Amino acid sequence: MRNKKTLCPCQSCKPYETCCKPFHLGKNPDTALQLMRSRYAAYALCMPNYIIQTTHPKNPQFNDNTKEWIQEISTFSSHMQFKDLKILEVQENREFATVAFFAHLFQGKKDVSFIEKSYFEKVEGKWLYRNGEFIS
Ligand SMILES: [Zn+2]
Repeated sequence: MRNKKTLCPCQSCKPYETCCKPFHLGKNPDTALQLMRSRYAAYALCMPNYIIQTTHPKNPQFNDNTKEWIQEISTFSSHMQFKDLKILEVQENREFATVAFFAHLFQGKKDVSFIEKSYFEKVEGKWLYRNGEFIS
């Protein structure tokens, strides 16, 4: 019998242990794509601190009131079912990257899936989520 391991919520089909968990524990993602996937997984696992730590201070969603922000992310995470993640396009260079993805999400029975193009910027050797735009 195969040893069943918990699959990573980022839908990589890899065990969480060797996929996004190291990033959630503090390892620096090498690529913007790894950061993107680990942020999706952090939303799915309701880890607001990880979301906050990996958001660029100039992101429009950046909230100086950390307590309020943690609350917002927790509310979002707890009301969502994270069904699937599909990476559509990745462009990455030394300091900037974009990742377009399809997030398959349900809120109760309602399909609230979306396609987003995310922008990432490397600041002092660390990838951060700069901002995102919805694509219809
Ligand atoms: Zn993962």
